Amino acid sequence: MNTDPLFDLPVYPASVIRAGETTYFLLRDQGQGKRLGILGPAAGFEGERAGELLLCPLTPANAVALRAALPWLRPQTLGLQTSAGCGDRLGLATPGHVRSVRKAAGVGPILAQQSMRENARTGRTPQEVLDDATWGVLQEGWQVGYGADADHLKTPADADSTAASGYTFFTIDPGEHVDDSAHSAAPAQLTGKVAALPWAALEMQPDDLYRRYLGHAFELERGRLFFDEQSLLRAAAKYGRAVAHVARMHRHLASILSERPWEMEVSVDETATPTSHLEHLYIALELRRLGVRWVSLAPRYVGRFEKGVDFIGDLDALQADLAGHAAIARAFGPYKLSLHSGSDKFSVYPLIVEATGGLVHLKTAGTSYLEALRAIAQVQPGLFRPIYALAFERYDEDRKTYHVSAEAARAPRLEYLTDNALPAVLDQFDAREMLHVTFGSALQRYGDAIKTTLRAHEDAHYAAIEAHFDRHLAAFAGKGEGK
Ligand SMILES: [Zn+2]
Repeated sequence: MNTDPLFDLPVYPASVIRAGETTYFLLRDQGQGKRLGILGPAAGFEGERAGELLLCPLTPANAVALRAALPWLRPQTLGLQTSAGCGDRLGLATPGHVRSVRKAAGVGPILAQQSMRENARTGRTPQEVLDDATWGVLQEGWQVGYGADADHLKTPADADSTAASGYTFFTIDPGEHVDDSAHSAAPAQLTGKVAALPWAALEMQPDDLYRRYLGHAFELERGRLFFDEQSLLRAAAKYGRAVAHVARMHRHLASILSERPWEMEVSVDETATPTSHLEHLYIALELRRLGVRWVSLAPRYVGRFEKGVDFIGDLDALQADLAGHAAIARAFGPYKLSLHSGSDKFSVYPLIVEATGGLVHLKTAGTSYLEALRAIAQVQPGLFRPIYALAFERYDEDRKTYHVSAEAARAPRLEYLTDNALPAVLDQFDAREMLHVTFGSALQRYGDAIKTTLRAHEDAHYAAIEAHFDRHLAAFAGKGEGK
């Protein structure tokens, strides 16, 4: 007879962990949801006793208690380590992410990552996002550490709720304060725009701008950068307000997080016009002058970074663009270059790794949802079909807040597809984008069925996520200098 108390239990083997006198493990869903099992002292946990075992529901309170007991379950900062953000809109993908990250030497994962917009569309709170990642990390026994990204924060209130939930990585998006019209404004207009900047918040006088930047050479490893009056005024007009906003957010974060370890990213990727190298330099120098510290920065690169599909544009131009941005990030940081809308940009990964030498953060958000749909197409074609039909119905409306170019007329027609052909729909450009941007509508109507199916077919789901992330992370593995 086997005397191991775990012998008959449906335990995830990788989750079994002993800390002091206590053994913790995660139990598979047997009609009551997954549960945390505890043998030994279990102060602070709530659950029901079954002999010497305490069976705990996966509640927020139990997640708090478990993170207190197992330090590696608490989100950490990753510093300048090569890193990858793995957004998980369904809250079920973390085990698949971890399985891939395990194989990607030197890549630090950010396993909780959602923007306020995503939370609004998925109906989740920052705390739920973080807790879901926590349980997934336990399930896989991933003890190396992970980060939690409060993505695209726009207001101090956004920062408050995510800081309170335990996030460690704060992405400040000052996009609303970027003046894209400065990109092509005439000189006279630029002067007016610059005069109207919030100089008090920028802690300088307009004259200081000229004194600081005109007539100076800014040295890079190879070559140097100079502002002329036009390029300086354009940079300041376009990004001056954004700089002031980032500085304000940084001060706010510093005040609420105080002694806790945290790190910050600056992202201007969701703006209409590319960030020139001189504009990037202006942003970096101004933020530094204002005492801002950041670990990564996402310029708006040249070309098109649409969601869930590869880069569209001139790869040679992008290569030159990345080289310039990376040189600035090294010389005036160092900090990582961040690649937003980074899902499925397979042609870009070798270029950005080469340009940065691994000083890079890859951010993916929606691609895990698409791979979950691939798993559903495999195991439950009868659920995938209405989700795909809904994508046709909702695309015109749901695409409005995204940069996408898919055309419904080019996507495979549902009525011609056999069940066996459904998974390959996820490989077709137009269908992929349509499914990507309609996720909010799909979750509203089919969210419960989607989650139930994925829970019942975990292995198919994790395998789809793992395979897809392997393709993402292969280019980044072993390329950084480590922590
Ligand atoms: Zn972004």
